[in-house]
Amino acid sequence: MSEKKRGQLLVISGFSGAGKGTVVSKLLSLHPDRYRISISATTRSPRDGEQDGIHYFFVSTEKFEQMIRQGELLEHARYVDHYYGTPRRFVEDSLDAGYDVILEIEQQGAFQVKKAMPQAMLIFISPPSAGELERRLRGRGTESEEQIRSRLARACEEAEYIDRYDYFVLNDTVDRCAAEIENLVEAERCKVCHNRAEADRLREDLRVYRKEER
Ligand code: 5GP
Repeated sequence: MSEKKRGQLLVISGFSGAGKGTVVSKLLSLHPDRYRISISATTRSPRDGEQDGIHYFFVSTEKFEQMIRQGELLEHARYVDHYYGTPRRFVEDSLDAGYDVILEIEQQGAFQVKKAMPQAMLIFISPPSAGELERRLRGRGTESEEQIRSRLARACEEAEYIDRYDYFVLNDTVDRCAAEIENLVEAERCKVCHNRAEADRLREDLRVYRKEER
């Protein structure tokens, strides 16, 4: 009998306004039984409509620092004056159960995850152009002029680190971008390094088969 294969860990990052959230929602809606999204802990306050335990675990700075000390976070980073981090237990348990786990996190955290778990797939989601990024940021209608400028400035800084990702996926349309990520996950699943147990079983099967043939 084959035991359930460990799931893939997908780390998805991209500039603010690149449309990561929409792409991740699309993946989840297409395959709710396959993907699980990790819910991060953060010290920032909830925005309108955000719920504790659904969008984030909203915690105090003291609690967050305790989580760091106790090794409860797979990665953590400071972003615009607040802590953000990924609870380790949920990720490990979901991967063990065979789910593909999605982390939608910023760059510092993405690189920490890659260091801790080299098999993680680091996926960078890109807007088609700088002009389109600005258009999307303005279209959200949630940022002031100053915030839009600072997000574009940050995008310039973050673009310097794209080469450290494993995959670069263009988000021109949500459907195409989600389909491309799915293809990447399928290809990753077929890598020999993720199929060692199956290869061992095949070798053993062949040995037994040859003995029976004689
Ligand atoms: P926001 O405050 O807009 O929800 O998120 C700000 C940034 O923090 C986004 O780039 C988001 O992807 C990132 N982020 C959310 N959760 C985590 C996390 O657990 N770890 C890290 N490193 N970044 C996170």
